[in-house]
Amino acid sequence: MEHVIHLTCVVCKRQHTPEVPYTCPACGRDGILDIQYDYEKARRTLTRENLSRRTLHMWRYQELLPIDPRIPYPPPQVGWTPLYEVPRLASQLGLFALFLKDDGRNHTGSFKDRASAVGVMKARELGFSSAACASTGNAASSLAGMAASAGLETFIFVPETAPDPKVAQLLIFGSHVMKVKGSYEDAYDLCMQACEQYGWYNRNCAINPYLVEGKKTAGLEIGEQMGEEIPEWVVVSVGDGCTVAGVWKGIREMHALGFIPRLPRILGVQAEGAAPVLKAFETGEDLKPLRVHSIADSIAVGEPRNWRKAVAAIKESGGTMVAVSDEEILTAMKETARLGGVFGEPAGVAGVAGVRKALEKGAIGEGESVLVVVTGNGLKDVKSAMQAVPSPLILSPDLDHLASALEKEGLTLKRRN
Ligand SMILES: *Cc1c(COP(=O)(O)O)cnc(C)c1O
Ligand SMILES: [Zn+2]
Repeated sequence: MEHVIHLTCVVCKRQHTPEVPYTCPACGRDGILDIQYDYEKARRTLTRENLSRRTLHMWRYQELLPIDPRIPYPPPQVGWTPLYEVPRLASQLGLFALFLKDDGRNHTGSFKDRASAVGVMKARELGFSSAACASTGNAASSLAGMAASAGLETFIFVPETAPDPKVAQLLIFGSHVMKVKGSYEDAYDLCMQACEQYGWYNRNCAINPYLVEGKKTAGLEIGEQMGEEIPEWVVVSVGDGCTVAGVWKGIREMHALGFIPRLPRILGVQAEGAAPVLKAFETGEDLKPLRVHSIADSIAVGEPRNWRKAVAAIKESGGTMVAVSDEEILTAMKETARLGGVFGEPAGVAGVAGVRKALEKGAIGEGESVLVVVTGNGLKDVKSAMQAVPSPLILSPDLDHLASALEKEGLTLKRRN
């Protein structure tokens, strides 16, 4: 917190002190705030040498986080997710080099844990005993998990269509779960009103300026993990837009602090049935809310609130956006697992599908290196995974049945006797 200078409104550019709790008072709900740090000061202590002595989790970047380092962190492991090179998936896509950062390995299985961890820290610092959010699933499960660990009560509003495994996570962590009849937007609006009414801490990325700071830690990690090898492209799936903006902010900060020699370009990937940010990106016009549908429930957002930040981030990076179909997402789900060894949920692997699309369009060149952030774990949405794969073989416990079943599969295996 001692490194925070001020909060800048993304609409009117006015600067506010950290006492402003959510959005810009002059611009209302559109006035999302961006936290600015004293990088000169941060640079003195945020060095590779100091980092080498710090614990491997997201809190290692304390100079660039808006929290009081004297308040203890909740114990669950968030951040410092593994980053793999996946040459077989790279050659399947026709790409020089491909890396996956597996954010499905976080505390509750998604990238959202990074934001909720900061949200819970902030809620505690400000003396709240309850927090709430509206979510397609992962923001909620991450809030529920982190809050349970910190002893905060949670109220969660999910759309009717939220997949069961995500709802199960909420219930098991003890949240009060409200399945709202309607869309994500309906759940969101009700949550906003309820936070006002009951005085709950509001963990909605659309208005809470601190959450993107948690999300940015993925970008900070990419900078530290890749260093000189920072790839030409970093790929992130886009729903509300907060994630891609956060990753870009983190990468830019690592560049400013000298951890990486150059900036990558950002590829933002949306689902074809839910691509209002892509439309705004391409037309340069203000975002128009859409009715959306996609298998990638975590990025099926019809009225994204952080679209301005997302479009600005992607443009600033010199990057671009693409949209992918449900079928392409299912293919990517299978390929990422089989050739990359990582099982991601549909929104988690939409980035991989996006890489293929960008290669086809010539936006990404075959000779370039690419890093995809896999934003959520495949176990979050087993129903979708089952759509991408054949059924298992069913047989009696008998070696002859096994032989004929394998034969039917077209598998001719050599027998030892
Ligand atoms: C939320 C989410 C995203 C997209 O993040 P936004 O901030 O909504 O753009 C991508 N993947 C997964 C798995 C998510 O849960
Ligand atoms: Zn403003």
